[in-house]
Amino acid sequence: MSVLVYIENTDGQLKKSAFEVATYGKDIATQLNTEAIALSIGDISTDELSKLGAYGISKVYHVTNDDLKTFVNQAYASIVAAAAKQENASVVVLSNTFSGKGLAPRLATKLEAGIVSGAISLPTINGNTFEVQKTAFSNKAIATVVVDSAVKVITINPNSYTVKEVGGSAALENFTAPVQSSDFSTVVKDIVRATDKISLPEAEIVVSAGRGMKGPENWSMIEELAEVLGAATACSKPVSDAGWRPHSEHVGQTGIVVSPNLYIAIGISGAIQHLAGVSSSKTIVVINKDPEAPFFKVADYGIVGDAFTIVPKLIEALKAHKG
Ligand code: FAD
Repeated sequence: MSVLVYIENTDGQLKKSAFEVATYGKDIATQLNTEAIALSIGDISTDELSKLGAYGISKVYHVTNDDLKTFVNQAYASIVAAAAKQENASVVVLSNTFSGKGLAPRLATKLEAGIVSGAISLPTINGNTFEVQKTAFSNKAIATVVVDSAVKVITINPNSYTVKEVGGSAALENFTAPVQSSDFSTVVKDIVRATDKISLPEAEIVVSAGRGMKGPENWSMIEELAEVLGAATACSKPVSDAGWRPHSEHVGQTGIVVSPNLYIAIGISGAIQHLAGVSSSKTIVVINKDPEAPFFKVADYGIVGDAFTIVPKLIEALKAHKG
């Protein structure tokens, strides 16, 4: 028996979510008195993969060839399932990212496993029964799911599990990809990077703005604030609908769900559909000129005032603080 974690990388660098799933998988493995093994697919150096040892991973399997450089759902699912079978994994852990969301149901089918998507904490384990808390209804509720299949597939929400180093080193091994031509019925021809900015779903700090900014010409101060803070930028739905910002920045019920450590909402009213995408942020700061704006009800810190006065002052103060 073992716990298998699926590790993601971007341009050869382990993603933050890789360390989250490694820590989560290791913590489950400790409870099950077994080992946590990782699987990485695609181009990444052995130096980078060996970092996982410090997070309690005992062995890292690596698969790469020209056909697997970019994410191909069916093929990647076949490989993860084969590794899970080879290692007799009773739990497979993935991040609830674009690829994790795509892989998990396929894996559950291939492994005849129960699935929990969007977990936010470690399961309570009682024999073969896992009780897992997960977000539900666009983050508006937390559900407790009971899963007692022999194999369990769990995806964890990005930024919901604290990464911890426990020391140790991982053995690195190549894994032979058991893929067939039918695994490549969908082929990625090219990847065009829309932006070099920090990835919104994984960002630790998000600076988000709404219709209160009046127009796209006023976004330079939002971008400057984000740059000073090392944050990703986001926006409300009407802002992206109006074409002021790209749709990739739209957060909420119909957009991206974020759970950063800090979410700064500027000139956003706090409609329920927007809050659905941001309510699991650890700290929420709201800047709005209307003291009755609903966003203040869920804010940890609120500033009532004109964004056009407050944001430049905030940038100035942060720059002075940084020196
Ligand atoms: P507004 O509601 O117009 O609010 C602007 C805010 O800016 C106001 O609170 C105002 O006081 C403040 N303001 C104005 N000037 C200033 C200033 N100078 N300084 C400081 N504050 C100022 N919305 C989303 O965001 N995400 C979603 O995923 C989403 N999904 C939806 C799905 C459905 C089915 C529906 C019906 C709606 C959805 N919406 C979504 C839209 C949502 O209901 C709201 O209309 C939207 O979130 C409002 O955007 P806003 O806060 O930017 O604009």
